[in-house]
Amino acid sequence: MSILARAINDVANRLRVDPDWGDVAAYIPELALVEPHQLAIAVVTADGTTYAAGDADTPFSVQSITKVFTLAIALGRVGDQLWGRVGREPSGRAFNSIVQLEQENGRPRNPFINAGAIVVTDEILSGRAPRDALAEIVQFIRAAAEDDDIHIDDAVAASETAHGHRNFALAHFLASCGNLKNTPDRTLGTYFHQCALTMTARQLAMAGRFLVEAPDLPRLVSPVRARRLKALMMTCGHYDGSGDFAYRVGIPAKSGVGGGILAIVPGKASIAAWSPGLNRYGNSLKGTEALAQLARQMEWSVF
Ligand code: GLU
Repeated sequence: MSILARAINDVANRLRVDPDWGDVAAYIPELALVEPHQLAIAVVTADGTTYAAGDADTPFSVQSITKVFTLAIALGRVGDQLWGRVGREPSGRAFNSIVQLEQENGRPRNPFINAGAIVVTDEILSGRAPRDALAEIVQFIRAAAEDDDIHIDDAVAASETAHGHRNFALAHFLASCGNLKNTPDRTLGTYFHQCALTMTARQLAMAGRFLVEAPDLPRLVSPVRARRLKALMMTCGHYDGSGDFAYRVGIPAKSGVGGGILAIVPGKASIAAWSPGLNRYGNSLKGTEALAQLARQMEWSVF
């Protein structure tokens, strides 16, 4: 067994016996009902080999991890113009904070907090129907993963809509500041469906390959853009837990409230970790720990 295969299995086995599984997201019933005792690690290395341990073939709601892909698409469409509508600084606030948006006159701090991601989705939506915008998002992710079996969970999307008061508040505030091109309903309809994408850890690790920048892995964006996406993942990928994640894990990553994390070791690997229970920042408790242990064991760090 290779060093990496052994490391992944060791980490998964160690974490499985640890009794603290964190708390699953409770803001919609579909996520509140997920069985917390699940853990997956999947790694695709620079030569294209996949290694996996635990529940790597169990689909989960990828939620905010889709924001990495939508940011790549929006930058592809409008380039640096996007930064007129959204910033690039860590927020130091919860993912769905309203107060900061008002203080900063409706220009969200970064594209990974909810308000910023809503602006990014709004940009992708401009000039076309929600169905077409969603098709582009799903198609981009399927192409990245080289897997057509990636779908939107309609029940999760409906639930996000039914319980989306805070996101509606953010979208309406953005609109009141002139920073929304489409109606809040239209933009959020697209945003909620994007968040409701379901993937396995194995599929997610595959989808992250384009950010690794290795000759044998697919290239969907320019090298400069790939580096910039990773810079934002490093500084903003874990909301107000981004500094702690950088300190403990040391590689760029983006989390989702479904308990998934996509992490990239530049030039070396794309990693997906998943465990639905969250820590106090709303990031996967065991997913973060899995990445911390794996990075330490493999001596992976960008620092
Ligand atoms: N759909 C979630 C929301 O907008 C995404 C949050 C997340 O994954 O962090 O509230």
